[in-house]
Order: sequence, then structure tokens, then C-alpha cells
Amino acid sequence: MPQRWRIETLSAAPLAVPLRDPFVIASGRVDVTPNVLIRVAVRDLAAHALAEGWGEAATLPPVTSETPTAVFAALGALTLPIDLTDDASLPAACAGLGPCARAGLEVAVLDAVGQLLRLPLGLLIAPEAVWPPAPITSDITLAIAAPMTMAGWATDFAARGFTAFKVKVGRAIDDDLAALRAIASTVPGCTLRIDANGGYTLAEALRLCDAIAADRLPVTCFEQPCATADLAAMAAVRRAAASCAPIAVLADESCKSLGDLDRILDLGAADGINLKLVKSGGIRACLQIGRAAQAAGLLLMVGAMVETRVGIVAAAHLTAALGGVAYPDLDTAWLLADHPCAAAADDLGPLVKPGPAGWAGPGLGR
Ligand SMILES: [Mg+2]
Repeated sequence: MPQRWRIETLSAAPLAVPLRDPFVIASGRVDVTPNVLIRVAVRDLAAHALAEGWGEAATLPPVTSETPTAVFAALGALTLPIDLTDDASLPAACAGLGPCARAGLEVAVLDAVGQLLRLPLGLLIAPEAVWPPAPITSDITLAIAAPMTMAGWATDFAARGFTAFKVKVGRAIDDDLAALRAIASTVPGCTLRIDANGGYTLAEALRLCDAIAADRLPVTCFEQPCATADLAAMAAVRRAAASCAPIAVLADESCKSLGDLDRILDLGAADGINLKLVKSGGIRACLQIGRAAQAAGLLLMVGAMVETRVGIVAAAHLTAALGGVAYPDLDTAWLLADHPCAAAADDLGPLVKPGPAGWAGPGLGR
């Protein structure tokens, strides 16, 4: 059978969008997105047609080991044209790419192939998925700031319809507790998903669980309480959180691969995992990890680094392809001061919007 797909051109450019407020988490700070926009032209050699696809390689050092400079270097080292496999997977020539570069390139390729086949991304990667998906509702992230500042952000987002807040914690436990109390009292009826980005010691994480239970704070899940490599600590938090709250403990930085998932399951370290395209090297890898986690009875969050609509819509299609995702966290485009990919600011709201063709067609937010 003749080769079907070929990348004919590839370009990469900085996708540096300022945030409305500094995005401060336990492990770092972002003021401008350190991302790369990848564009490819893919030819369908059978139909003699050509389409352009976009992908976002979102970095977030030190959560990701890659920087934009590393992404540019890795992509620049590829030799064009690149013949793809029959299912439009990246070939062995791309094996040396880091996970951020690989994820962005894979989405760009699939975006182009989806346009050539007139298929939405989610259905392209998961033909058996229920389509169109049920409505997907996202939380909105509150970065670390003064507790009353965080409560003020929550009030503003609640006026836009958000009821679930992903609250960044893990820097100073007393300030974190003050913020959780302020948000819960300012927005009655909200739910809180807390994310420490590995910032707590085990003792601090256990103390936070006790305080959440004592104050009856509406926390539903606790993401990455302790250091990435310390799965024993996460397992201990999970046991405490189940008995005192109950709160689901989710692994994020600790779960990047199927091997990581196996270790988490062996140790009973988490109730669920957070999937991110750039963490695991692409949307198809995330689909595989997500399905394995679902088969093992784990809960799923689908999230992103600090990404524009290009990356967020790709993650939305992963969410739709998997189905049953408990915690969609597809919000970061709304934390930006600009929307370079044509998403209007008045789109801001918890209902996740797919590309310009809706769920029925191809395209990633432009
Ligand atoms: Mg996280």
C-alpha cells in the first residue's frame, strides 16, 4: 500500500501571551506563556490534497524539562519531508523529540489530517467514542495570591457561571487555609479542587486534610500533595483524605506514563490522575493512559499547562474521546490577557467550547 500522509512543511513560532494576573503555583510562576505554536502542512498523497494543522507545545519549567528553546532546537533538527505511518502517527524519525515538542507536533499533524478527512480530532483518535460528547464543564484555576485576592477572583468567575474552583496551594499552609476559607465563604455552594504541585511535606498535607474536615470546606479532590517521586507520601495522604473528608487524591506530576500509572496502582497511591498532552508526549499517549486508568477504576482529570485555545481545544477533544472525565480542567485560555487564536473574551464561561466547527468538524480554536 502506498504511503498516505506526508509532512511537507513545518514551522514553529513563539506563542508568548501575557496573563491577566501572575500565575503563581508552588513550583513556579508564569507571567507570559512559554509556549510554541507549531504549524505543519500535511499532504494526503492518495487524494493529492494539502491541509495546514496547528499544535501547541506548552512548556512550564520546572514541571516540564523542556523550554521553548529546546522545542525549537528539537523541531529544527528534523529533516523534511517526513512520511507518517498509515494511521498518521509520528514515525521513528521523531523519536528523539521531548514530550512537549512531540505533543505539539502530533496535534498539528492530526489537526491537518482531521481537516483532510473532515473529522473532529476526538473522533479521529477514538472512532468508537460517543459523539458529539455530552456537555463538558470546566473548573477555573485560582493561582496563589493573597487570600482576599483569590476570593475576589472567585467572585468574578462565579458571576460568569463557574461553580468549581481549582485552587493552587502548597506554598504556605496557613495562607492556603485562609484562602480556602475565604473562597468558600465568599462563593457559597462552590466546590474546591486543590492542587499543591508537590509543595507540601507529608505532615503539612495531613494537617491540611484535618483542617478541611474540621472546617467542612467543600474540597472534592487534592492534587499532587507531595513531591513527585514520593508515592508513599501520596498513599498516606490518600488514606487520611479518605477517612477524614473524604477527598479524592489525584496524581499529576507523578503520573506521566503507563509505567507511572502502574506504580501508582501498585502502591494504592491515588484515586485518580491528571492527564496533560505535553506531559505524556501526545494526545494518543494520553488516551492510552486514560483508558488504562479508567479500566483500573481511577478517576480522571484532563488539564493543561498554561495554554491558549489551541492546546485547550485539543485537550477538550481528549476529554470528549475518553468520556466520563470527572474533573475537566480546561480553563487556562481564560486566564490570558489576549486570545491570539480568535476566541472571543465573551466566550468566558464554564462550558467548554470546541473548535470553530463545533464538535462535528475539525479545527482547533481558530
Ligand atoms: Mg496539577
